[in-house]
Amino acid sequence: RAKKNISDNFEYFAPEIEEKTTWQLNMIRRLRNDFADRKLQLWFQPQVDLVTEQVVGVEGLLRWPDGDGGYISPAVFIPLAEYSGLIVDIGQWVLEESCRRIQQIKQNGYEELRVAVNISIPQFRDRCFVQKVKDALRNFDCQPSRLELEITESVVMDEPQIVIDALRTLKDHGVAIAIDDFGTGFSSMSYLQKLPLDRLKVDRSFVSDIKPGKSAVIVETIVTLGNKLGLSTIAEGVEKREQASYMIKLGCDEAQGYLFAKPMPFDELMVLLEEKGKTVNE
Ligand code: C2E
Ligand code: MG
Ligand code: MG
Ligand code: MG
Repeated sequence: RAKKNISDNFEYFAPEIEEKTTWQLNMIRRLRNDFADRKLQLWFQPQVDLVTEQVVGVEGLLRWPDGDGGYISPAVFIPLAEYSGLIVDIGQWVLEESCRRIQQIKQNGYEELRVAVNISIPQFRDRCFVQKVKDALRNFDCQPSRLELEITESVVMDEPQIVIDALRTLKDHGVAIAIDDFGTGFSSMSYLQKLPLDRLKVDRSFVSDIKPGKSAVIVETIVTLGNKLGLSTIAEGVEKREQASYMIKLGCDEAQGYLFAKPMPFDELMVLLEEKGKTVNE
């Protein structure tokens, strides 16, 4: 549909399209170079038990410095990394970096903590994906259950059989599986049965808008669905105390959001865990 409009107005739209493509190609080239120069970073955002507020896990999130003290948003560069295929190598690095951190976390005495990693569809299309995950775990001497893979509904819908097979094998190996941004994609409920899930991540859009009304019904239904399927549930993007209280009331288990902590470099995470540990012991 959009295509037809573009060709109808070809002369008018063409320069704009060309400009965007140049910008995209430029960004992809910069990303490739910066990745090769080891400039990408993996930050970590705590996930807490909603009742005790203890940190039970972290999600690894890519950070790409813009060379000017800031960062280019993953919302901008992940789609480009996927489109260009770079995500396969970058994702492999994220996986290895996560396993290296799991090892360090264990050495620092927090062996219970799990580390979640976002996985994109091109990674699943790589026939060696399952083996690569197993190798990363083994190379860093990780207990597989400390690693959690996060996939969105669109990843499942894109290649259902490949994704289901890969996840079943990894689940048998002990790896945990979470469904990310739940409720935003168009998924078939039947996949909830077929996927070997451990956790359901309630999308931020439902958590941030929980005044009485439709979104409250949706968030309540999602948490109930998760609970009834025997899955752990985690609320994404909790920014306010009321949101946390409301999620507790609904029976949600965990939360991840600015109210508790923003994504941070690994060293800061270690400081935070150290401080939390102290207050618990005192
Ligand atoms: P996601 O996996 O749903 O990650 C959660 C996003 O929500 C993160 O954005 C996080 O910083 C943000 N967030 C967490 N708590 C709050 C909150 O209280 N308020 C608000 N406003 N935002 C919150 P981020 O880091 O910008 O990442 C965006 C997306 O980029 C991720 O969404 C994920 O889809 C993708 N991404 C990031 N790192 C990776 C990666 O290593 N591999 C892949 N394939 N995708 C990644
Ligand atoms: Mg995620
Ligand atoms: Mg998410
Ligand atoms: Mg999201």
